[in-house]
Amino acid sequence: MKTIYFDNNATTKVAEQVLKEMRPLFCELYGNPSSMHTFGGQIGRKIRHARQQVADLLGCDPTEIVFTSCGTESDNAAIKGTLAAVPNKRKIITSRVEHPAVLTVCRELQNHGYTVVELGVDRKGQLDIAELEEQIDDDTALVTIMYANNETGVVFPIDRIAELVTGRGVVFHTDAVQAIGKIPLDLSKSNIDLLSLSGHKLHGPKGVGVLYVRKGTRFSPFMLGGHQEAGRRAGTENVPGIVGLGKACELAAKNIEQENGRVKYLRDKLEKAILEKCPGSQLNGDKDNRLPNTTNISFEYIEGESILLMLDKYGICASSGSACTSGSLEPSHVLRAMGVPFTAAHGSIRFSLSRYNTEEEVDYTIEKIPEIINRLRELSPFVTK
Ligand code: PLP
Repeated sequence: MKTIYFDNNATTKVAEQVLKEMRPLFCELYGNPSSMHTFGGQIGRKIRHARQQVADLLGCDPTEIVFTSCGTESDNAAIKGTLAAVPNKRKIITSRVEHPAVLTVCRELQNHGYTVVELGVDRKGQLDIAELEEQIDDDTALVTIMYANNETGVVFPIDRIAELVTGRGVVFHTDAVQAIGKIPLDLSKSNIDLLSLSGHKLHGPKGVGVLYVRKGTRFSPFMLGGHQEAGRRAGTENVPGIVGLGKACELAAKNIEQENGRVKYLRDKLEKAILEKCPGSQLNGDKDNRLPNTTNISFEYIEGESILLMLDKYGICASSGSACTSGSLEPSHVLRAMGVPFTAAHGSIRFSLSRYNTEEEVDYTIEKIPEIINRLRELSPFVTK
């Protein structure tokens, strides 16, 4: 059975061109970039090239790119690195819909005397900017707000938020793990101080990420040891990962507009057909301000997990809640924060597409979903027969 992969917000297929660039770095060009010899030196050049490729996608200077091991590390480093650099301030502002890579860190910091404000969202998953403005005070060290939500795809007005926050003299971090490669972003025109991204979400490899640190931003390194990454992140570099991520960024920069137009067309076709053909289904999230690849749909009175299992029988991969929380039957914290009723939040499915999806895959799924939903509704003890 062919796999139909609609779980690209969990992880993506590595692009063939990316793999091709990475391959020689395992058994041929395996030197340590910090070595003095010529063999190691050529690896250093590979990393410099990758740094430039990432900087070109983001619209920043290559010296502002710090390679890390993943999006989670970048988020941890941004938050803890800022707090260490601004020790006299004890308040962090974030949102209730952040990924656990931010939310868990912030909540843990409360045990260490920090005040954490989690801003709520409305029914569409959007923030109240006026509330954010009110919360910023002299004790605020950091505001960390995600660029795009991993579960709903909702995109926040980050440039506006960054301008507001930095205008008050506060450091601004954004977790842009889901946004990079899906929507254009230009740091040269933005006030963002710190930004996280992850290789495996944009057809790069797993185990590599980036923390962008704007020149002049107060930041203390989180990982200590050697002098790698200009003293901002110790540890021998994951060279194949970094080179792969560089190539993935180059491909994203080249193809973003054309490919995302196609992905959006497929996402919209899938979404429209499901909403039309399945009674009791509803879209979650701000329809007009979303990633082009994501749709999050609730099916009233059905368990999301049951839908996933039936989709899986047809080879269709989707997700209920984020990958990091699957396994738990708690409804998604994002949908709950949006005020989605319990009966609908429990039955929510996220389809997240990529440039590798085809129209045939979408058509096949459109054919199967109503069948699955009708079958599960017949079995549901909550639906009056
Ligand atoms: N932030 C967001 C918004 C994510 O979606 C994810 C992963 O799903 C992460 C952070 C964590 O990234 P990584 O898997 O690279 O640690």
